[in-house]
Amino acid sequence: MSIAIVWFRRDLRVTDHPALQAAAERHPQILPVYIHAPDEEGAWADGGASRWWLHHSLAALDRALRQLGTGLLIRRGASLDTLQALIRATGARAVYWNRRYEPAVTDRDTAIKTALREAGIETGSFNGSLLEEPWQAQTRNGGPFKVFTPFWRQSEARLRAALAQGRLALPPPRRLQGVAPLPRSEPLAALALLPKIRWDTGIAERWTPGENGATALLERFCEQAVGAYRERRDHPGEAATSRLSPHLHFGEISPLQIVQRLERAKAEVGAGLAAGADHYVRELGWREFSFHLLYHFPQSPEAPLNPRFAEFPWRAAGDYAGDLRAWQCGRTGIPIVDAGMRELWHSGWMHNRVRMIVASFLTKNLLIPWQEGARWFWDTLVDADLANNTQGWQWTAGCGADAAPYFRVFNPILQSRKFDADGAYLRRWLPELAGLPDTHVHAPWQAPREVLDAVGLTLGKEYPLPLVDLQDSRSRALNAYHRPDA
Ligand code: FAD
Repeated sequence: MSIAIVWFRRDLRVTDHPALQAAAERHPQILPVYIHAPDEEGAWADGGASRWWLHHSLAALDRALRQLGTGLLIRRGASLDTLQALIRATGARAVYWNRRYEPAVTDRDTAIKTALREAGIETGSFNGSLLEEPWQAQTRNGGPFKVFTPFWRQSEARLRAALAQGRLALPPPRRLQGVAPLPRSEPLAALALLPKIRWDTGIAERWTPGENGATALLERFCEQAVGAYRERRDHPGEAATSRLSPHLHFGEISPLQIVQRLERAKAEVGAGLAAGADHYVRELGWREFSFHLLYHFPQSPEAPLNPRFAEFPWRAAGDYAGDLRAWQCGRTGIPIVDAGMRELWHSGWMHNRVRMIVASFLTKNLLIPWQEGARWFWDTLVDADLANNTQGWQWTAGCGADAAPYFRVFNPILQSRKFDADGAYLRRWLPELAGLPDTHVHAPWQAPREVLDAVGLTLGKEYPLPLVDLQDSRSRALNAYHRPDA
């Protein structure tokens, strides 16, 4: 009986899994494998929060596969060597996987495909994580897009046409026939993904990694939030967004499954949901755009897309270490920045609007290179994703494709007053400011002395004074931008 290895990577689910489906259709026996090879991720091996997620997601995938009749084999080591060893041990004739698009991983996968084919092994790679391949959208000249709107106009047209023709997410296999006896699997604990010092309590309280957790969040979103998504998605104090980003990153749900569910919600509930659902699909479009850019500009995780920023006069590392630390710890004295950074540390996630505010503060008010912020996010976000994180940072820093211009510096106080008017988000993450009235909670250093005294708050003690003056630091950033050699 011929055996196919299904090599699981960032597609930790059994529903709408093209590689699993193809393997099960073409081969009677399936060997699902996860290979832990962080050295093969280039400079971007998973950070601490992602490793936590991965541990629980692998456990969930193993449970799902067991329900279908097999289980997940876990191995550590070089991917090609491991696949070859499993082929020798089981007599497998094929290896199937869903594609990844990070530059180092693409190179590795190409080399593996060549080596397996040369050894007479059938290979199959599929798109399991995007609505379309990152190379499909093309400008009239056949090049990549650098502006989102025309990119999405083209991609969305293809998506809508495919949906109209009946494109559907694949169902999970009814049953899988595994390999018996199953080759030896490493215990999940051997991957040492969980932290030794327990900083993960807040993360564990908030998230349920795995396909079931993803489906539950999607249902909550469709039932409670999608109708108001367009109007409320920028308000960090409300549960107005889907929080599906880590599930999408680890491939516990596919974007096609989400689009399909939203279309169903529109059909069932009607026009009331349409604007929110369509706006949500557009946000998935930003994810597609990020992958399009990463694919075409593989240097973008390290280098600015806009060459003008190659020589930008950022502060020197020796000069900014203390300010960077204050930003990381949520001790800048600017409440909306500190609330975001504490939410990130506690829960492994931060609201999109607040991500933009903290990134603007770091790159403009503190004049610290965006790569420092991207690295911190990489280690602390459960949804840390090379495509989305790179574009998010480059966009906010003003050096990316279709970016907010560098000279548009977010005013964190105005942003805070606009999007968290009642201070619910600030009070949740900064309990030391909870007693301040709405008028002063956004900028406590502007509060009269008696207001601070009334709530027993001494700035510089329980809560820091601002690290920088917002006007002066804004001017410094604009001067750096306009420097003739910058
Ligand atoms: P929803 O509003 O429910 O959106 C649905 C999905 O659309 C998201 O899960 C995400 O996959 C996608 N999406 C939404 N907004 C964006 C966007 N601006 N760019 C790309 N995709 C988007 N997202 C990540 O997934 N990983 C990251 O590492 C990451 N780093 C970021 C860094 C910065 C500085 C910024 C400004 C944004 C970053 N984002 C990142 C994008 C965005 O903040 C998150 O995707 C979003 O906050 C996730 O929350 P949600 O699932 O509730 O979003």
